[in-house]
Amino acid sequence: MGEVVKHGVLEPTLFTWLEKNSEKILKRDVSTIQKMLVKNIEIKQAIVESDEKESGQRMLLNLGHTFGHAVEQLSGYAIPHGQAVAIGLVYAMAYARMEESERVVSLLHAFGLPSHLETPYSAKSMVKAMQSDKKNRGKNITLVLPQTIGEVHIHTNETPSKIERFLKKYHDQNR
Ligand SMILES: [Zn+2]
Repeated sequence: MGEVVKHGVLEPTLFTWLEKNSEKILKRDVSTIQKMLVKNIEIKQAIVESDEKESGQRMLLNLGHTFGHAVEQLSGYAIPHGQAVAIGLVYAMAYARMEESERVVSLLHAFGLPSHLETPYSAKSMVKAMQSDKKNRGKNITLVLPQTIGEVHIHTNETPSKIERFLKKYHDQNR
């Protein structure tokens, strides 16, 4: 479900639909779940197709994954992918100072997903894990950052030191 909320942040009509249908989804209402799956496939396809015209759009699907993969990796893969993506999405929203991030956190919680770790990994180990990602070889790190629901941008040149400063501050503030 972490991936579904991620798609919702990329596509506002899906986000609103998820908010309206979260109870039915939790109750595993079959037709609602089927609709949800179809909507998700459509969004993924639309992004992959736009990638053919405008290069790099496919990167949008990595929203929440750069921070998320670091969490997943540091947990020794004890944290499931969907949960790591949820946590990574919240990091990306905080980094981007995203508007409406509270709505996203509420939806994650409605689906029983975490928004943070009780005991976060150190800023240094997070950045190190992010740099070990093959997509971030070399100096700077690519982050997919949401401005608001439906407005998400790819930032290819975020410095490890800036990310580390952010993580330290964020962990201190959310203790
Ligand atoms: Zn994923």
